[in-house]
Amino acid sequence: MTIAPPAPADSTTVLPPPPLEHLRSPRTRAVLRLQQRILSATREFLAADGFTELLPPVIGPVTDPGARGAKQVDVDYYGHRYKLMTSGILYKQASLLAFDKIFNIAPNVRLEPLETATTHRHLAEFHQIDVEVAGATRDDATALAERLVRHVFASCAADMGDELALLGRDPADLAALAAQDFERLSHGEAVLRLRAMDHPQSQDAELDWVGEELLSRESVRPFFVVDYPKGSRGFYDRESRTEPGVLRNFDLILPGGYGEVMSGSEREHEYTRLVTRMRETGENPAKYRWYLDVARAGIPASAGFGIGLERLTRAVAGLDAVWRASSFPKIPGVVSA
Ligand code: AMP
Ligand code: MG
Repeated sequence: MTIAPPAPADSTTVLPPPPLEHLRSPRTRAVLRLQQRILSATREFLAADGFTELLPPVIGPVTDPGARGAKQVDVDYYGHRYKLMTSGILYKQASLLAFDKIFNIAPNVRLEPLETATTHRHLAEFHQIDVEVAGATRDDATALAERLVRHVFASCAADMGDELALLGRDPADLAALAAQDFERLSHGEAVLRLRAMDHPQSQDAELDWVGEELLSRESVRPFFVVDYPKGSRGFYDRESRTEPGVLRNFDLILPGGYGEVMSGSEREHEYTRLVTRMRETGENPAKYRWYLDVARAGIPASAGFGIGLERLTRAVAGLDAVWRASSFPKIPGVVSA
């Protein structure tokens, strides 16, 4: 059993209607109610597992540099150049000083390249469910992520029959997805599969959007891709101590063409390694002063992940494009509300 496939990415940008039309549409309302259930199911699952929800900072002197080709937004903070958060990774790690298990539900702003306006899965403003656990390994993080996402699917299937029906979805399909174990393949195996499909995927780079969607379309169950090569991700994804060049990280890809909904990793947390990795990834450590000060004093080892809320909503609701999962959507490059 799989979820219905969305339209393939193409060269057309379907523009969101103005708020008057978008917010009054019964379909939008059904999608936003589903999103509300995704959030409440997430909060109830994580609270029962001993997590503390922290409210995330929105601006800071520095933000996650690891976003594929997206530009950061500057803010004038009393004469200092601050950034809008592209992700909460730096604050997530530092928050472990207070609690061992934390999560945020955070807005992120990324000025994505214009060509992403037609991928149907990029917004310039979106939200992440950001989870981090002190002392956890990569495999602890994938196990937790799988339990969480399956709980979300099961909760939506059980409680949101009317909304799913209005959107043309069968709750039984979602329940079936919730009942399946997720698969796992290494980045190296994903590269081989893509090459067998005549897709020229580099073994040293991130899976490109087309490749990721190809793998997603041919899959019938959610799967983790693990062990991305160094160089494809930010300085905070921990490098394997036994296999140099391999990162202890993962993505979760949903079947049916919906693609990546989550990225996560074991974290680099030791001060000297962080400085080295920053330099290797072209980042100036001086910019990250507050974070490195914390790291020098000692951030716990950890692992965690971030789930794209609108992308997860898109897959649950069976939407052709991710903007339908936002009340005030921002498509890259498109001027809107
Ligand atoms: P990343 O740190 O880039 O892997 O982002 C974490 C998660 O946020 C991804 O797995 C996506 O689900 C989501 N995400 C990232 N960029 C975007 C975007 N431009 N629009 C919507 N969701 C996004
Ligand atoms: Mg990612």
